[in-house]
Amino acid sequence: MKTIPLGNSILRTTTLAYGCWRLAGTSKSEEVTESSRAQGRRAILAAYEAGYRLFDHADIYCGGMAESIFGEALREAPEMREDILVATKCGIRWAGDPEASAPHRYDFSARHITWSCEQSLRRLGVETIDLYQLHRPDFLMDPDEVAQAFSQLKQSGKVREFGVSNFLPSQVSALQRVCPMPLIVNQVEISLARLDCLHDGTLDQCLADKITPLAWSPLGGGLLAEGALQGHQDARRGRLLPVLEAMKILSRERETTMTVLALAWLMRHPAHIVPIIGSIRPERIREAAMADDLGLTREEWYRLYLPARGEKLP
Ligand code: NAP
Repeated sequence: MKTIPLGNSILRTTTLAYGCWRLAGTSKSEEVTESSRAQGRRAILAAYEAGYRLFDHADIYCGGMAESIFGEALREAPEMREDILVATKCGIRWAGDPEASAPHRYDFSARHITWSCEQSLRRLGVETIDLYQLHRPDFLMDPDEVAQAFSQLKQSGKVREFGVSNFLPSQVSALQRVCPMPLIVNQVEISLARLDCLHDGTLDQCLADKITPLAWSPLGGGLLAEGALQGHQDARRGRLLPVLEAMKILSRERETTMTVLALAWLMRHPAHIVPIIGSIRPERIREAAMADDLGLTREEWYRLYLPARGEKLP
């Protein structure tokens, strides 16, 4: 797979990343079994063998189990470590953590950022996190406090580079203004099922400031993939029918799959959007990697954008 710089850092990522949210096959840690752990480890190995070199996590994925399963996979195949970038996130806290009265919330206090980073390092079994991201904007974010926490994590060698996720451009700017290091990614939901980032300035900022947009749910959680026309009962399916139809026609013309087309559509953007693949099935992980070679023309890109937009261009 081809590689590109990650933001304006010296790190390089493959053009597609692998996401570990669904790795355990469940979001509840108490439901994880030995067999689901083994399935998760197989998915990581399949992604590595298919050429993916950026692996995305969060402290909350399956209550930390996704990071632990990844740590197991790294212990089984330690040679992977020097080839890959390990990314994770912090900042979301569930209700009841740590005391029963605590609500679901976001927490960018220096204390929580540092504590969560140390827990992730332990679960992942690595000495350094290559990319540490703030998961969702905390309404009570104090940029100076975050900058101080980031600086300490960098100085102590626990984190190499930093980024954000689900940030509006104004929130990126507010934090970047006081951060001594560049914020190198903004991980956002963008796909043919979710176009907001094209219209709200997110991608413009990425282009202007050399921030890499990492695309979460690049297949709309599976809605844009093969079989979506028959399968899903999701409420968004009806709205997606026109774009799914256009994808079906173009995928026949290009002799490819709808999955590959949906990913190549993101990768056509000049900001170098990196889709984060979420399937845990090895054959789908390998199929997605083919998007690296497709390449869409401007006309093909607009043939999918227009039905996804749902209204004519002015
Ligand atoms: P996705 O690739 O859009 O969706 C993956 C889902 O689609 C899986 O459940 C997969 O099932 C299913 N799927 C794939 N191909 C399919 C097909 N042909 N037919 C039917 N279903 C199909 O991505 P995602 O998992 O939603 O998100 C990817 C990554 O983004 C996550 O792992 C995480 O790293 C990141 N993320 C970040 C945030 C954030 O707030 N920053 C939020 C969500 C996700 P199978 O596994 O059975 O193939």
